[in-house]
Amino acid sequence: MTPLLPEQRAAAKAARIVVRMPNWIGDAVMATPALQAVRRAFPQAHLAVIANPLVAELFVAHPDCDQVIRFDKRAGDGGARGFWRFCRRLRSERFDLAILLQNAFEAAAMALLAGIPRRAGYRTDGRGLLLTHGVAAVDKKHGLHHVDYYLHMLGRLGIEAGGRRLCLALTADEQAGAQALLGPGEWIAVNPGASYGAAKRWLPERFAAVADTLAAEFGVRVVLTGGPGEAEIGRDIERAMGVAPVNLIGRTSVRELMAVLARCRLVVTNDSGPMHIAAAFGVPLVAVFGPTDHTTTSPLTDRCRIVRSAAECAPCMLRECPVDHHCMTGVTADMVLDAARSLLGARP
Ligand code: SF4
Repeated sequence: MTPLLPEQRAAAKAARIVVRMPNWIGDAVMATPALQAVRRAFPQAHLAVIANPLVAELFVAHPDCDQVIRFDKRAGDGGARGFWRFCRRLRSERFDLAILLQNAFEAAAMALLAGIPRRAGYRTDGRGLLLTHGVAAVDKKHGLHHVDYYLHMLGRLGIEAGGRRLCLALTADEQAGAQALLGPGEWIAVNPGASYGAAKRWLPERFAAVADTLAAEFGVRVVLTGGPGEAEIGRDIERAMGVAPVNLIGRTSVRELMAVLARCRLVVTNDSGPMHIAAAFGVPLVAVFGPTDHTTTSPLTDRCRIVRSAAECAPCMLRECPVDHHCMTGVTADMVLDAARSLLGARP
């Protein structure tokens, strides 16, 4: 396979590159070191990302990205007609190179139909023939962290990793907005959802107990964060808490959520997209892991404590637990509190 770098470098000034981002917020955050590597390899190129509407918000005001293209299946880009229309629109952008960090056949078909002459990505989902620069797939289950999974593919294309640091950015207005939304004082965020499925969620009453105890011990205020589908969990936690939290679950945009998390002194969370967002902003984290693999999707920060029980069936990667959910019920409030105290007690 011809590496991408030499041939593109010759035309670096004119290069127009589009990177197809993964569809989950957490995966997209873990793909930011790869985006950074592309930017370093092609410093003068016009660099765009394609992402679904939620993931796209991560890349607004991102230093490595010049353009954000939203691919919204639910609002016109879905179905054969909508997809074709989207590809035609993409064709008008005249990209030279597509780098596919999403593994679906659809991503390669999109790049082909958009007339993009170089199409690079893992040979997954039967799409090898659609790629001009296909990379042999690596099994994610074999212990490779997701960050390295994306970087490995770029490495095979001749694009060197500049580092493994996650990167997200906020504008000054967004930071001021979070400050106004939360008000004064020190805050901890409790993020009790996980859009992947219920198996990843720790128990609401234990989140409530942890939040109450930390509020009493450290004088911090508590904000609940999450998406619209997690509103009921938020209400359960609010009812179970002794002190009144600010419940923002389902009430923030992705960008507002990013700014709120970035403003916190600590985030207590399940394995979720907001966990990776907090890691990207260097916010100390306590992350409860159950059915997922903490070695491949751990938050990439050294200011994190992962709390898990020793369930013999973990990681099962299931969305719903077929047994008694003991990977999560085995994690006690005291275990999470000890982890939180170790982070709150040692200020950076
Ligand atoms: S099967 Fe085991 S690891 Fe999977 S959710 Fe249930 S208890 Fe957890």
